[in-house]
Amino acid sequence: MSSDQVVLGIDVGGTKVAVGAVVGAQVTHQEESPTPLSDTKALLDGIEATARRVIERVGAPAAIGVGVPSQIEHVTGLVESSVNIPLTGVPLRDELTRRFDVPVFVDNDANCAALAEAQLVDDAPASVLLMLTLGTGVGGGVIIGGEIFRGAHGLGAELGHFTLDPEGPPCPGNCPGRGCVEAYCSGQALERDATEFARDMADSGLADCLDEDGRVSGRAVVRIARDGDADALRVFERFARMLGVAIGGYVNVFEPEYVVIGGGLSRAADLYFERAVDEARSRALPALWRRVTVSLARGGAGAGVIGAGVLAAQGAARDTARLRAESIEGAE
Ligand SMILES: [Zn+2]
Repeated sequence: MSSDQVVLGIDVGGTKVAVGAVVGAQVTHQEESPTPLSDTKALLDGIEATARRVIERVGAPAAIGVGVPSQIEHVTGLVESSVNIPLTGVPLRDELTRRFDVPVFVDNDANCAALAEAQLVDDAPASVLLMLTLGTGVGGGVIIGGEIFRGAHGLGAELGHFTLDPEGPPCPGNCPGRGCVEAYCSGQALERDATEFARDMADSGLADCLDEDGRVSGRAVVRIARDGDADALRVFERFARMLGVAIGGYVNVFEPEYVVIGGGLSRAADLYFERAVDEARSRALPALWRRVTVSLARGGAGAGVIGAGVLAAQGAARDTARLRAESIEGAE
């Protein structure tokens, strides 16, 4: 790929499709549209139409990267499973390659977000970085050697499904485990703990937050914790402690330069981040801890497009290098 050709980054979320032209970690000409959820064809048509609006302005891209909230078999670009958008079983890479006639690279959105953060942490891209995406569930991304680590088939790096306590609560994700990181450090875990507490203690502030369905929302726990409600703060104390236990363990295993916390719940980091870092510090091997920086994500809502663009640029560069090596071999 020549340096004057752009790549496109496409971030497919549960509510919107965002597309931009990406150079390095910079996004230009971004376009957005609501995610069509009625069926697969409507979704693919919607992705194509949004991307074409960018292509009209920047010209044909050298490659396209796509991040989706789904499990992806990396080698084939096939969507293994997809809970919130209709893509399960869809050969997404082939479908989009056919529509755009340029190389397409597809990956999980958490992996793309981690790839974006690796570009944003410092002046130079990070080599080894872990990202935890704290939202309804807990997503994970692992960057090693500046690229996404995926495991054998692209399904690995599920940091949220690492077990912290074998006798812990059932994992709220699509997972048979108990006591996973996601069972403590997710929006679903927060709501579960707050709701249980509210039902046990009828005269508590959390009980006042019970909604019509008999549940306490994550938003309500955050609100009254910020107002200093002792019980809500106790819910966050467990959240923070378990997050710290997880981070300490990950640091020991990967020796990352950076651990980054992102996702919707990172907006409530004032309620758990410092406590989690203290817990991790007290548990990680000191020589490793001294060399790691733990921080909140920098990419924000734009990280998905940046990461998908970097995915495309790295993939196109690898293809170019491989073709060159093959042509040298062929000439010998
Ligand atoms: Zn799990």
